[in-house]
Amino acid sequence: MKKKRDFSKIYSYSKLGLFDKCKKQYHFYYLDPEIAPIKKQFKKQRDYQTKGLAVHGAITLFYHLPVQDRTFENLKECLKNAWFSEIEPDKKPPLGKAGGFNSLKHERKVYYNTLRLLKNFFNLEDLNPSLFFLPTANIKNSFDDYENLITPLSGEFFISGKFDRIDKFEDGTLKIIDFKTGRKNQDRFQLDFYRLLAELNFDLKVKTASFYYLDNGKIKEFDVLNLGKEKIKEQILNKIKIIENTKEFLPKTSPLCNHCDFKEICPAFEQKD
Ligand code: SF4
Repeated sequence: MKKKRDFSKIYSYSKLGLFDKCKKQYHFYYLDPEIAPIKKQFKKQRDYQTKGLAVHGAITLFYHLPVQDRTFENLKECLKNAWFSEIEPDKKPPLGKAGGFNSLKHERKVYYNTLRLLKNFFNLEDLNPSLFFLPTANIKNSFDDYENLITPLSGEFFISGKFDRIDKFEDGTLKIIDFKTGRKNQDRFQLDFYRLLAELNFDLKVKTASFYYLDNGKIKEFDVLNLGKEKIKEQILNKIKIIENTKEFLPKTSPLCNHCDFKEICPAFEQKD
């Protein structure tokens, strides 16, 4: 039987990031005694989220295929199986509103754009990398991956997350790969966080970490060894302590509010009406 976990003491990169983005949103999502337990009811699926899920899901399914079956035709089949809505996972395409689409034309446009990203991935990639870790093939329910990676950080605190892929070099060191569907340059702290998570989980050294930008087909590789493990641990712990010591979770309005599931109940917007 699985041990009952205290999820309030488990921190992921995205959880820490949400606190920086807006403390009020963080509070709604993780701490509010009335809202947090029913947060799924507030979830609104957006087109870019469906696209992100589909790209990651299709790539995962593709790597679960035997090497000889890793063709572009089969990658397209993987995309069909990965085209689903988080809020209605059993709905068959077209997903319509459940996928964040306002018309069939809109959904088709996003689908073909998703296919373009997968084409970039296919052209970019060695189709038979030395895979060390892959997310579960059960792409509609990847929470097990997160649970399996929960690892102690310090005292009562734990960290976890989800890897897109980890390869193993011949010398036994690891390479972390994160697939990006957006154009925004990502935060270096993310790779440091994932390096620590991998090293604590697998007890192997991480040599490099890379972002694969699928929109333009470019790879950005980082040598992650220049920051000591203890230093990364300290950075994460400092962020956790700030959150744990926060008493007032104030709203921080920005253009990102338009993408926030809690906008309708946010006091920052109630006051403006
Ligand atoms: S609507 Fe904006 S200010 Fe309010 S919780 Fe969401 S992100 Fe924060």
